[in-house]
Amino acid sequence: MLQPEVKDALIHVLGKAYIADTEEQRIAYSYDGTPGFSAEPDAVVRPGSTQDVQEVVKICRQYGVPIVPRGSGTNLCAGTTPTYGGVVMVFTRMKDILEVDQENLTMTVQPGVTTLEIVQRAEAEGLFYPPDPSSMKISTIGGNINENSGGLRGLKYGVTKDYVLGLEAVMSDGSCIRTGGKLAKDVAGYDFTKLLTGSEGTLGIVTEAVLKLVPPPPVKKTMLALYPSMEYAAASVSGIIASKIIPATLEFLDQPTMEAVEAYAQVGLPVEAGALLLIEQDGEEELVDRHMAQMKEVCEKNHAFSVKMAASAEEAAALTEARRSALTALARRRPTTMLEDATVPRSKIAEMVRFIEKTAAAHQVEICTFGHAGDGNLHPTCMTDVRDQEEMARVEAAFEDIFAEAVRLGGTITGEHGVGEMKSPYLAWKLGESGVVAMKAVKQALDPDNIMNPGKLFAGDTRNRVSLGGDR
Ligand SMILES: Cc1cc2nc3c(=O)[nH]c(=O)nc-3n(C[C@H](O)[C@H](O)[C@H](O)COP(=O)(O)OP(=O)(O)OC[C@H]3O[C@@H](n4cnc5c(N)ncnc54)[C@H](O)[C@@H]3O)c2cc1C
Repeated sequence: MLQPEVKDALIHVLGKAYIADTEEQRIAYSYDGTPGFSAEPDAVVRPGSTQDVQEVVKICRQYGVPIVPRGSGTNLCAGTTPTYGGVVMVFTRMKDILEVDQENLTMTVQPGVTTLEIVQRAEAEGLFYPPDPSSMKISTIGGNINENSGGLRGLKYGVTKDYVLGLEAVMSDGSCIRTGGKLAKDVAGYDFTKLLTGSEGTLGIVTEAVLKLVPPPPVKKTMLALYPSMEYAAASVSGIIASKIIPATLEFLDQPTMEAVEAYAQVGLPVEAGALLLIEQDGEEELVDRHMAQMKEVCEKNHAFSVKMAASAEEAAALTEARRSALTALARRRPTTMLEDATVPRSKIAEMVRFIEKTAAAHQVEICTFGHAGDGNLHPTCMTDVRDQEEMARVEAAFEDIFAEAVRLGGTITGEHGVGEMKSPYLAWKLGESGVVAMKAVKQALDPDNIMNPGKLFAGDTRNRVSLGGDR
């Protein structure tokens, strides 16, 4: 529980209606989208303005109270579990689209706006906001920025960081900084926009963002390629990229994922296929047609037994939506679904998928794989039961092997979900000890009292799926 003087100070700033510390609220905000991690906050606060955020931060700094900024809590790295208690700060009162600037092609938003609202508003204005995490219907831009989220369109269009031009952020001393702006060029000092993007709430609190919008592609076409085995699908991915085509989407589903998705979405996926590629291209019609024909040829050369264009925009949308539902579909199979995002250079996809299959068999666990094949971002997903400790030990061992192999192949422990508390034990595998020391120095400089989402990025030595609670 908060010390009475802290609670009084927060009430003074925000008003009673915007602080909740009932057991119900503390339990509701004790977990996020990550299975097996939970820790209760002392209270939940809902600021209504940047100034509110500043005042709350000053109080928390004074009393050493941790602050966990939280969007919709859909992250998959235990990024918003209040590891050391403190206040969870939610942005449900700061969810406005403040401006669409047609001359500079920018949108200025508050942190609580959902990704879908941004995409839809851009469309309504005749523009395009490409980052499209599968969680976009509920994820917020504050969360997207802090995880640097990617999506199906990442291969061609990049990820969230490529669309953040400027930020307003409240730092750990309560000061407010502005980085970047409505500018295509800005090299005035360190690039704090990029530093804060992907910082997982550990360096500052994003209170406003200027996003880049682009003209929408005039035409988009969708194609489905089916393979007898994953090997051939992976070879097609390499073949497509080697033929110097960057498709808008190049997604991969293995057979068990396809089966689960079909049972869930019923879009007519042929579950007897060994693997599937969902391929999209957009742009001028002539170019799209040429690329689709070239990619079809590559797929057929690599033993696709069927390569079919979606007959209508509706069919194309249904296929994309089905791919987006992969996690939801798999989650119906067992009580716990652990979705990882080990990422490798795309030339190593086949090798990595083979390794995942071998590792799952060795540890006797069920792992399906799907993901953004075009950028090597795979989602090995384990269906398990977090209550079964013996099985969980095998699951953890399997994922450790998978992360180690990803790094060995020149990849990374996470391509888009972030480190959070969950992957903190493996950060040094990717960065090396000196890399971690350098990052800790940044954290120490900007948050010397460690009040900004403590226990994330640099936390434990083991991947411990239990609530830590207690003292910091
Ligand atoms: C079904 C499903 C599908 C998903 N698909 C994808 C996908 O395709 N691609 C992908 O990249 N991810 C995906 N994710 C993961 C997740 O949705 C993303 O990480 C998303 O960006 C999180 O947004 P959120 O609003 O839920 O943020 P939260 O989970 O609430 O927070 C995420 C991080 O941001 C910090 N944060 C939030 N708001 C602020 C703020 N204003 N200031 C400072 N820090 C802040 C939090 O402290 C935390 O560290 C998926 C998750 C689910 C459940």
